[in-house]
Amino acid sequence: MGTENPGRPAYPGRPATTPFGAPPPPNVRPFSSTPPIPGSGPSTFRPTTAPPSQANTPFASSGPMAETEAPGFQPRPPSTFSNPSAAPPPALPSYGSPAPGARNFQRFSTPQFTQAPQGPPARPPTMGQAPFGTPPAALVPGAPPAFRPTANVPAVPMGLPPQRATYAPPGGSVPQLPSESVPSVPRPNFQQSYPAADPSVPTGRPTVPPLFPGYPNQRPHAPPPATLSQSPFAARPAGDVPAPVVASPFQTHQGGYVQPHTVPAPFGMPPRDPMQHSASGPPSNAMYGLMEDFNSLSIGSVPGSLDPGVDSKALPRPLDGDVEPTSFREMFPLNCHSRYLRLTTSAIPNSQSLISRWHLPLGAVVCPLAEVPEGEEVSIVNFASSGIIRCRRCRTYINPYVTFTDAGRKWRCNICSLLNDVPGDYYAPLDAMGKRVDFDQRPELAKGSVEFVAPTEYMVRPPMPPLYFFLIDVSVSAVRSGMIEVVAQTIRSCLDDLPGFPRTQIGFITYDSTIHFYNMKSSLTQPQMMVVSDLDDIFVPLPDDLLVNLSESKTVVETFLDSLPSMFQDNVNVESAFGPALKAALMVMSQLGGKLLIFQNTLPSLGVGRLKLRGDDVRVYGTDKEPALRTPEDPFYKQMAADLTKYQIGANVYAFSDRYTDIASIGTLAKYTGGQIYYYPAFQSASHKEKLRHELARDLTRETAWEAVMRIRCGKGIRFTSYHGNFMLRSTDLLALPSVDCDKAYAMQLSLEETLLTTQTVYFQVALLYTASCGERRIRVHTAAAPVVTDLGEMYRQADTGAVISLFTRLAIEKTLSHKLEDARTAVQQRIVKALREYRNLHSVQHRLGGRMIYPESLKYLPLYGLALCKSTALRGSYADASLDERSAAGFTMMALPVKKLLKLLYPNLLRIDEYLLKPSASAQDAESTMKARLPLTMDSLDSRGLYLFDDGFRFILWFGRMLSPEISQNLLGHDFAADLSRVAFSERDSEMSRKLCALLQKIRESDPSYYHLCHLVRQGEQPREAILIMSLVDDQIGGTSGYVDWIMQIHRQVQQNA
Ligand SMILES: [Zn+2]
Repeated sequence: MGTENPGRPAYPGRPATTPFGAPPPPNVRPFSSTPPIPGSGPSTFRPTTAPPSQANTPFASSGPMAETEAPGFQPRPPSTFSNPSAAPPPALPSYGSPAPGARNFQRFSTPQFTQAPQGPPARPPTMGQAPFGTPPAALVPGAPPAFRPTANVPAVPMGLPPQRATYAPPGGSVPQLPSESVPSVPRPNFQQSYPAADPSVPTGRPTVPPLFPGYPNQRPHAPPPATLSQSPFAARPAGDVPAPVVASPFQTHQGGYVQPHTVPAPFGMPPRDPMQHSASGPPSNAMYGLMEDFNSLSIGSVPGSLDPGVDSKALPRPLDGDVEPTSFREMFPLNCHSRYLRLTTSAIPNSQSLISRWHLPLGAVVCPLAEVPEGEEVSIVNFASSGIIRCRRCRTYINPYVTFTDAGRKWRCNICSLLNDVPGDYYAPLDAMGKRVDFDQRPELAKGSVEFVAPTEYMVRPPMPPLYFFLIDVSVSAVRSGMIEVVAQTIRSCLDDLPGFPRTQIGFITYDSTIHFYNMKSSLTQPQMMVVSDLDDIFVPLPDDLLVNLSESKTVVETFLDSLPSMFQDNVNVESAFGPALKAALMVMSQLGGKLLIFQNTLPSLGVGRLKLRGDDVRVYGTDKEPALRTPEDPFYKQMAADLTKYQIGANVYAFSDRYTDIASIGTLAKYTGGQIYYYPAFQSASHKEKLRHELARDLTRETAWEAVMRIRCGKGIRFTSYHGNFMLRSTDLLALPSVDCDKAYAMQLSLEETLLTTQTVYFQVALLYTASCGERRIRVHTAAAPVVTDLGEMYRQADTGAVISLFTRLAIEKTLSHKLEDARTAVQQRIVKALREYRNLHSVQHRLGGRMIYPESLKYLPLYGLALCKSTALRGSYADASLDERSAAGFTMMALPVKKLLKLLYPNLLRIDEYLLKPSASAQDAESTMKARLPLTMDSLDSRGLYLFDDGFRFILWFGRMLSPEISQNLLGHDFAADLSRVAFSERDSEMSRKLCALLQKIRESDPSYYHLCHLVRQGEQPREAILIMSLVDDQIGGTSGYVDWIMQIHRQVQQNA
């Protein structure tokens, strides 16, 4: 497939149906966000700031410059820059008056997704008929099963029914009454949706239409067990609940009531995990078969106290880390892996009223380039002559959920139901089942994730080469920190591993009070440095040779990097002309786009974009002026971010200072260009070198998608209304992502367009159009289906805490930009309260809930993660609890994290490791089990005779108990074993134990490589240093923050109010 067309004079025009047919928007609102969700009422979270795009410009463009018509990959910066505004080179902005919105993307026609002939892109146009009036063929019994929910799913073993436990204070004195353990109370509402499996439940319930008309035989009560045993949906058939009722060893609170009801998992899905808690004793066998619709927590008397309370040990904790939801794929085996797409609930509500009762965010978290799950692959499909098969109307890409009819000559779009012709080249006959005979050879029909090779219609210029441009602060503080040397060495060591050889381009600018350009022409033996000191009228000297082909100029580049640290070693310049240097970098990069890596050590002090010290007036804190400190002060940064995005430049900011550098402003560059912030406060080469080296190397060598745009489509009747993360929104639903990689995730909220959804299934399709480093233009497509439900209980059952928390986190951080921190925290708590109150109301009719707190199994960790979020660096405490920069950096980082990584940051791992280290011949299995034995994050977990490892995905903290065997300390710390640990750097020592520990740390780092875990040492009682661990113990009540128990009590009290 021709993807590069260097000699091609012009690129194809835009036939109405080609993907790039849309004109650029007349106006760009780069920072507009999305409107509040209709129907959600006054959200407690900050609604977005700008109105949505009008329908007349739904396809704002992005992407490579159409008019520049780069004939090849030679960087060809504009020839004259001495007066850029007078003689404008192709599409270069002038910077005299940065006026957001004044510049638009007119010059940049876009590799955007295809325009639908009418209506907004993510959904089909409004049609006279209801496209979903006729169920897709696959849903009609007997019709060709386009998706075969039972086809590839292993049968779920019909083993023991799940167990669950009701927790109670250990000292509680009221034994569970066996009689109450027997399900006996009919629950009309519940039965309407899910008849109880327990035979003792009255059977005279009204018959209700199946929730899943397409899956009648999957109803738990319907088929005989024999059939069920072969069905993947038959985890809990009706007859398998032995429900032996014996006295439970678990004691309940004073109410003594144990919710006994046994309920099959919805759709016969595998049983939910029994609630695990290492400290609460084994779940009772007596509870066997008594799995109920909800979990509960006894809120009663704490032993030895008159205060009502809850036993801390009984509280649920995510000690297994994030467990990716599986129900998504169990219901629809052809769905993409949840690593790519997670829904906050995989049961989509059918009505506005259901949504409003759900209270949690309804939406998705997408990580389009997530690392491929083990044992899977993303097939690359090249349609060649037939072109990529897409729906003529809504532009959905062909996927496993489309259905073929008319002997294989037509296919029906699963998103909008339109019947499309099958192109001649793509035709294949159908078998007796209505399945294409070539099904097995077609990954796009068999897999939820696939990558299409894009033909030339998907490009408006040849795919860009990977390009890395470095903007390096060389002022005195940068020199003294040692940062320059580490950066230069790391870049040099990665040169052979940069993606895209032999097309990769590279360039450098350094700056202090002046700007230094480097000519790296391959014919030179040494780079030539050119200094520009006129900061008001930036021009680029020698525009042709500042950006060079790495393979041609490698020697010059290496010479430059070798000499860079010494070039400035005596620099005493304290100024930073960051803004002008940034503009210069944009000028150099604008022809091609690429990745801009910024290394900033001081507050920008000269030229445009200079910033002033903010936040030193404590009177501002706690007032309405405080949130402004968390937003960029100077519009220059937002405008620059808009311009960078426009030119396909993604910026990553590395910040190093121990002083205020206004990351709120500088970080904007990364936020709106799909980039990332790396923050190394008070960087010192001696202690932070490894972290910087690892993270920079990963940034340089990880697989990157260039000049990308992303869109998520969904079925008729629903719509994504707001997007949250690091990107710029172009048009209503197109995310501009100049560079993307596996470490970036995006969240979006969903709303119903109509009051009632009449379909039984909704489909989602994420499409990322990008240029691969190899130079091929590709479209990565992830498709998933989810059932539409009429039952609120089902929404809760199918909830995904990880996705909910990802959205919560992004919404809360956004809220801190316009509200006090406290307001953001309250909003988190309030939504949890509302959700649990609604949930309680759902069950209080049929159950005597007493003082118990109840919650769905799926959301058992929600309160704890909510608490952890409120205690995170971005949200915690007041101004004194985290510096402005620290908070901003944390916020930018958390906005981009994939679910798993975010959850680990919120609730880190705490492991006891001294026993493992002492074991004479510890096996790999021992290491494995040590890594899995996670402990609750409380002081109570720490034994002063132990050695503990804390791991939040960004750093390690090794905690040495006061009574720890001296042998261990000596082995691990050598002569420093008794020293003040704040002065001791962790390193491998000459002992078996030390090697063992380093191997363990290495193993963890390899399993979680996005950031480097720097190892901090802490000794019990050594203040103030120990605080770095103590403050991270989420469960504890520290420094005015709630502990887990108080938090639960607060939530419980509020849930009961007006319940
Ligand atoms: Zn369609």
